[in-house]
Amino acid sequence: MQATDTVRSHKAQKVIERLGKKLNRQIVGSLTACVHCGMCTESCHYVLANPGDPTYAPAWKADRIRKIFKRHYDWTGRVFPWWVGAKSVHTDAELEELKDIVFGKCTNCRRCSINCPMGVDLATFNRMTRGLLVSVGVMPEGVAVVSKDQWEIGNQMGVLKEEYIETIEWMSEELCDELGDPSAAIPIDKMDAAVVYSINPREVKYDPRTIADAAKIFHLAGENWTMPSEGWDMTNFGLFSGDDDLGGAVARRLYEKVVELRGKKLVISECGHGYRSTRCEAPNWAAYDVPFEMESSVNTMLRYVREGRIKLDKTRNALPVTFHDSCNNARSCGLFEEPRELLSHVAVDFREMYPNRAENYCCTGGGGAMSMGEYTPRRLKSARIKAEQLAATGAKVVVTSCHNCVDGLTDLIRHYKLGMEVTQLVNLVSNAVVVPAAVAVPEMVEVGVPEAAPALAGYKILVVDDEPDILVFYSALLEDNGAQVFQATDGDAALVLARKERPSLITLDLSMPGTDGGKVFELLRKDPELAEIPVCIITGKPELRRLIYDRPVPPPEGYLDKPVDEDTLLLNVRKILKA
Ligand code: SF4
Ligand code: SF4
Repeated sequence: MQATDTVRSHKAQKVIERLGKKLNRQIVGSLTACVHCGMCTESCHYVLANPGDPTYAPAWKADRIRKIFKRHYDWTGRVFPWWVGAKSVHTDAELEELKDIVFGKCTNCRRCSINCPMGVDLATFNRMTRGLLVSVGVMPEGVAVVSKDQWEIGNQMGVLKEEYIETIEWMSEELCDELGDPSAAIPIDKMDAAVVYSINPREVKYDPRTIADAAKIFHLAGENWTMPSEGWDMTNFGLFSGDDDLGGAVARRLYEKVVELRGKKLVISECGHGYRSTRCEAPNWAAYDVPFEMESSVNTMLRYVREGRIKLDKTRNALPVTFHDSCNNARSCGLFEEPRELLSHVAVDFREMYPNRAENYCCTGGGGAMSMGEYTPRRLKSARIKAEQLAATGAKVVVTSCHNCVDGLTDLIRHYKLGMEVTQLVNLVSNAVVVPAAVAVPEMVEVGVPEAAPALAGYKILVVDDEPDILVFYSALLEDNGAQVFQATDGDAALVLARKERPSLITLDLSMPGTDGGKVFELLRKDPELAEIPVCIITGKPELRRLIYDRPVPPPEGYLDKPVDEDTLLLNVRKILKA
């Protein structure tokens, strides 16, 4: 029974009521077992990067949640609240403070959990608290945007079906060209395949080469495989937001698609939270009795090596590499040795990072942190621990089996100027795999081959952005690659130039003085003479994404969130122009 208490806000009341429904043996055990020994304190990268600030200590953070539980659901707190530190929550401002802790001061990495002698799993009830706050609409803006995309569009990055299919077809053509073998085409919705391959939308949006690399490996291994046309997103923002309903709905789409295709096994591409969600957590969230096997693509590739289905030449990956264990893959799912065994086959100079495996530090982008822009300074400050760990290896390349970690590591490597590359096992395996002579591409004869024209030669591109630095950066990059570039710093000038120059593509900022980018986009689409010009939206305000897709006109051909690096911009421009 709940204790009676003073007046509280509607949201606070709902949080308290819903907390009661979330309690189970595991959570109650963690909420009651802490003896405040402090042994977990030094486990947390936030603590190590912020010496002297007690508000980052795992036990301190846990107590903010524990107080509420004790006040309402533990007899000691109901009878002697002053004695056991029980305290209710009353106002929306207090909920905001709780939000700052559970979203902004913890990545749910579980490093403190495995270092607690009492078995307290803070990350589990931290996630539960996130879910309670989300249920009353208290969450970082980015969490709301990404969750909405995954609910409504079916994937975390708002990738439309056409964009997904086009990207696969593009990678399919590239692979067939590379191998000189039309049978290497990527099969979509093939029935009764032994492997159904699911991916992270980041691969479509920012890293399509990973799709081609995986396809090459499946093809050379002689696998009977396919990619689904729908329900293909194996990531799950429900794990980060604590929303079990979202988590269940997302996973169910994928499970049902595999069943529809009568697939024998679901292979999950390299993504820590996607693997943990899809294989370990989501069957419970979705209440779904999954009738097929599921495995990480790391295990799949290792199996091909062990069975002799692919041959590797590791001298092709000669740079010194280290391996970053993703928290979800390693600490939560036990994938420690498989990636290392695979690495031993594909890289000549492997340097272990310390600590590693279950004791590895978070990339600091975990728990959905990359989507929560308001906490970026805090995230990058705490990343000093990871940066020191990386630098000490002396490696030039850091390998990780997680797309989220790729982004987290890339950001901190840039911030701390470490000069390292980040890559995944699929890229190293693809680079090392030996193409049999029967499908080997003849060596190109260098003599007499004319120099290739720049990729964007002959294209006119209108760059629209009110930030001078960005305008210069995009323009220089596109011009260096052969495009003729026109610039506009506001919406009205963009419309005038679009009519005058009829560009092959427009890159369009949304937030601008005068006619904003959203309105410009709609006007372009509604003008019969301009409607066919492809548009790539590039914005620093992800919350505006829905406003674009909700407009009564066909969607943009491309959509990128700032900051955009050179590779991403070029890749997407080339993809849209089919250049
Ligand atoms: S190690 Fe466990 S018992 Fe000790 S303070 Fe941390 S959570 Fe509490
Ligand atoms: S789960 Fe990770 S980030 Fe959160 S308190 Fe524990 S060690 Fe720190």
